[in-house]
Amino acid sequence: MQKSILTRSTLFVILAASGCAGGIGEVGGNAAPEGSARNPFKDVAFFLNPAYTASVEATAKRHPDEAATIRKVAQNPTAVWLDAISAIDKLPGWLDEAKKQQDASGKPTLTMVVVYDLPNRDCSAAASAGELKVAQNGEERYKKEFIDPITAVFKAHPNQPIAVVLEPDSLGNLATNMDLPMCQEAKGAYKNGVAYAIKSFALPNVSVYLDAAHSGWLGWDDNRAKIARVFKTVLNEAGGPQMIRGFALNTANYTSLNNRDGAILEPTNPCPNELSYAKTLKRTLELYGFKNHGFIIDTSRNGKGQIRKKWGSWCNVHGAGLGERPRAEPEPGVDAYFWVKPPGESDGVSDPKQPRYDEMCGGPDAAKGAPQAGQWFESYFVDLVHNANPPL
Ligand code: BGC
Repeated sequence: MQKSILTRSTLFVILAASGCAGGIGEVGGNAAPEGSARNPFKDVAFFLNPAYTASVEATAKRHPDEAATIRKVAQNPTAVWLDAISAIDKLPGWLDEAKKQQDASGKPTLTMVVVYDLPNRDCSAAASAGELKVAQNGEERYKKEFIDPITAVFKAHPNQPIAVVLEPDSLGNLATNMDLPMCQEAKGAYKNGVAYAIKSFALPNVSVYLDAAHSGWLGWDDNRAKIARVFKTVLNEAGGPQMIRGFALNTANYTSLNNRDGAILEPTNPCPNELSYAKTLKRTLELYGFKNHGFIIDTSRNGKGQIRKKWGSWCNVHGAGLGERPRAEPEPGVDAYFWVKPPGESDGVSDPKQPRYDEMCGGPDAAKGAPQAGQWFESYFVDLVHNANPPL
């Protein structure tokens, strides 16, 4: 996937910064309904994915000198990604296993599921191009062959909490990349597909977080206003802002929680990091009728600052470290820090001769030797461990 970019000049359209305190003039819609009721991460345990644990364990065995440190990674939960129709076959197994963990601990056990297969996926990049195409009936196929079967599996697992991160990068692309033909073509399908998923996942045990990219993409005043308008349109179609619990930030990206990298790289961006973005986006969204929503922040790989020459670099950024450990309510207004991107899985292939090669993955900020997106990238994983902050 594109993992939040600054590759296009449209992303740099900047208004005079009004400080990281909101300040946009446009107010849309009626008084807001309440955001969906409670933080689903509170007072629960988190599903530990045995497949992820196995990847970590295999790596630990191949690095005996530091095996004990490496094994600590596997104590942390990671999201499971539904990145293709065929991946749905794995969902019942994941949720059954989570239920086993829940029954064993006696504590509700939350599974985080990333839903990621819109037609024309990754419309402004190449590394995570998907299987469905708008021009080939992709919207209908997305609804019937992807969202409907996922909904059926969720319905068959009513007694365990599920958090959904819905379609990373998609609405961000609608906000800022409409000059690109593949994104332009995707507009209707992204909106309708996301709205359909929100309506379908309106189940008592499921909490939906819409992806809101990261500060280095949407932090600017005008871009926050743009994404707020897109959210509003989609949520109107889906039944209102209360249909979702909140917004997911930094999915699979590297932007830090609170250091000042952003201020150095892009001084005109009023949100230099993810915590300032969460606060500021919240104020912007309130102007558009979104109230009481929570944020989750992907901290899988944002532990170490000052690793990028460009804030827009999103592919296997060299020198990254594991970030804060997943947990509920780390800050006011933040539902959770979570490892949404399973650390160690590649963002995209670095060999220009391979399919889905994106120049970001061969660029100066990217680690070399990377396999295709989603594949285990062991040397990179070991670096994440070495650079972990806080340390393991
Ligand atoms: C890839 C997916 C993968 C996910 C998690 C994305 O970049 O496109 O295939 O499941 O990352 O690693």
